[in-house]
Amino acid sequence: MAAEIATVERALIPQQRCFRSAAGVGVHVDGAELHRINKWLFDSGLRILAQIHSHPTDAYHSDTDDEYALATAVGSLSLVVPDFATGPADLSQTAVYRLNKAGKWMAVPHAAVNRLIEIVD
Ligand SMILES: [Zn+2]
Repeated sequence: MAAEIATVERALIPQQRCFRSAAGVGVHVDGAELHRINKWLFDSGLRILAQIHSHPTDAYHSDTDDEYALATAVGSLSLVVPDFATGPADLSQTAVYRLNKAGKWMAVPHAAVNRLIEIVD
């Protein structure tokens, strides 16, 4: 079976509200914005292939990341960049997860990341 190649055509930055709690910092995307995004995707004939966000320090998929992911299609990728993305773009420092059929985000081993993602300048 040939591998499916998908190209990122657009980047979408949702309207979001920042918050700070005892657990740390985060952003919230409200229901109206999620509705707007879904309508835009439908009207554009596009779908979310991947999502990306940063953390203040370590890159990992938190429980909140698991629960409130915007990408919901099986096979979607979720990238978490460390240190508020202040360093150079480097996939070896980025935590990459993929949504499986059971709806669970699974860490993609670094050796497999470069087979899944190609950054083209
Ligand atoms: Zn996160």
